Parts: sequence; structure tokens; C-alpha cells
Amino acid sequence: MSTIKCLIIGSGPAGYTAAIYAARADLKPTMIAGLQPGGQLTITTEVENYPGYPDGTQGPQMMEDFRKQAMRFGTDIKWSYISAVDFSSRPFKAQVDDKDWITAESVIIATGASAKWLGLPSEQRLNGYGVSACAVCDGFFFKGQDVAIVGAGDTAAEEATYLAKLCRKVYMIVRRDEMRASKAMIHRVNNTPNIEVLFNTETQEIIGDKTVEGALVKNNKTGLSTTLSVTGFFVAIGHQPNTALFAHTGLNMDENGYLITQPGTTKTNIEGVFAAGDVQDHIYRQAVTAAGSGCMAAIDAERWLATQGIH
Ligand code: NDP
Repeated sequence: MSTIKCLIIGSGPAGYTAAIYAARADLKPTMIAGLQPGGQLTITTEVENYPGYPDGTQGPQMMEDFRKQAMRFGTDIKWSYISAVDFSSRPFKAQVDDKDWITAESVIIATGASAKWLGLPSEQRLNGYGVSACAVCDGFFFKGQDVAIVGAGDTAAEEATYLAKLCRKVYMIVRRDEMRASKAMIHRVNNTPNIEVLFNTETQEIIGDKTVEGALVKNNKTGLSTTLSVTGFFVAIGHQPNTALFAHTGLNMDENGYLITQPGTTKTNIEGVFAAGDVQDHIYRQAVTAAGSGCMAAIDAERWLATQGIH
């Protein structure tokens, strides 16, 4: 197989937007969609904060629209996964489905991140039906209602205060007797009257048949279990960037495994390898910011290829 100009790994908003721009720039991109085609949005329901959808849309439908747009301009989408990469020399090499190797002049990594979950069967069953890992995405649906959020880091603290503006009451479920979040964030939580922090508390079960109706929690000091009457259950116990594949490639990552890009660009420390979306962003994590950085990656790749005489 001949060397392709641009390989895109991942098919969330970042990957598809990179594909749209790269295809329109005549880079004839190949996208390897990965094990969860469409990415995190395919496990959400309503999306109301993506500009251009005045009446909102469904996450899976939105990703289907992204896919159609990427294909319209000739992106070669393969429903496969990348099993190994070799960025030690150019053209770069990537193995598809543990079998054949392909070569590419440039690579855009858009493999995203995955929310960490508690691992309860009820959490999985009610995911998208009251259980969510993104308060900014889904908090609005619980306006005026009582909700719970698990976690004690900066994300949980930030999301709890975000939810507190919309919801009547927010229970923050913290497994230890203190929070990991920064002092400033703890201060904000403590100064928000409608947040009640439940320390030393673990979630035993999320209750509800079709949608969330409550959460059974246990105080691990007293051994007492109580049921919180909530309609929304948010999990904010961290994210895992999908970068295991790139562990020994020489790509720079931070201490949590997120790829590091040069500020204001999508360039990694390896020339010709770019990163877009949640795989390099642990702060914003929104579909629209991922899409924006996918656009940047395609433009960065196109300009870099031009410097190599590849058009
Ligand atoms: P963190 O890893 O910092 O925190 C995860 C939290 O979830 C911890 O409090 C942990 O508890 C708790 N947790 C983990 N597993 C479980 C479990 N099974 N049951 C109950 N609780 C659990 O993740 P964050 O997403 O909060 O933050 C990631 C990084 O991003 C951090 O460096 C953070 O500072 C940064 N960040 C910065 C922001 C900002 O500057 N504005 C905003 C958001 C994040 P325990 O403490 O007991 O381990």
C-alpha cells in the first residue's frame, strides 16, 4: 500500500473535524475509527450545547452527521483500530487490527479520553438516563431537581458548583474524610449553600428502573446506609486519556498520560504528529472545543506537509 498523506486515529468530534478539513485540503485522509466509533458522544443522549443545533440533537445522531460530512469530502473511513504505531522514522507506521501496517506522512491523534466509572451495574444500565459523567453537558436536564455527584477532585468540585446553580440540591459524595480538590475549589464548595458534602461515603447502588430515582449510599465510618432522593447522578472521578498505544513512541505526555501539545497549536514533540481533542485536553473536554482543535490539527498538518514538499 502506498504511503498516505494524513492518518487520523479516532472518530470523535476532533477526528471527524480533522477529516473534514484535511479532505477539503486534498490530503486524502484515512481515518481509523477505533473501537468506539463516534467516541464519547455516542453514549450520551441529548446534546443541547453544540452551536448550530437550535433544537438540540442526540449524541449518536450528531456523530452520524459528522461522519457523513467527513465522507462527503472523500475521507477513507475504516471501521478498524490501530494496534501499534512506530513514530521513530518517517513515513510513520501504524498497524491496523493487529495485522497489516500502513505508512503515513503525517498523523493526527484524536483518540479522546474515557470517563472513569464506579463500576456498578446500575450505573451502566442508567447511563444516559440520569447517570452522566459530564455536568456541563447534562446538568441542564436536572434544573430545579436534586442530584448527586461522586468525586472529590477539582472536576467534581467545579461540576458540583456548576450543578448548584441549576439544581435545588447537590449531594457531593466523597469517599474519604477530605477532598483532593484545590483549596480555592473546596472553599467554593463550602460556600455554596445548596451543596451538601457527604464525607466517608460510598455509593452502593443507583436506584431506578428506567431513569434515576435515588442513590443508596453508605457511610464507611458508621456503617449506616441511606437513600438519597435524586433524579440525576453525576460521576466525576477522573478521566483516562486513551494514550496507552503511544506509551513507547517518544511522544511527550503529562503525569496523567495526556499528550502535550505546543501551546496554541496541535503540534506534539514529534514533527508531523499532531494531537487534537480530549487526548490533549483535560480542562475543557467539550465536543465543540474538540472539534475546534481537530480543525487546527488538519491545518497544522497541511502546513507542515507543505514544508516537506507534500501537497
Ligand atoms: P482527580 O484524579 O484529581 O480526582 C478524582 C477524584 O475522584 C478523587 O477525589 C478520588 O478520590 C475520586 N475517586 C476516584 N475513584 C473513585 C471511586 N471509585 N469512588 C469514589 N471516588 C473516587 O480527577 P479530576 O478529574 O478531578 O482532575 C484531573 C486533573 O485535572 C487534576 O490534576 C485537576 O487538578 C485538574 N483539573 C483542573 C481544573 C482547573 O484547574 N480548573 C478543573 C478540573 C480538573 P480520592 O481523593 O479519595 O483519591
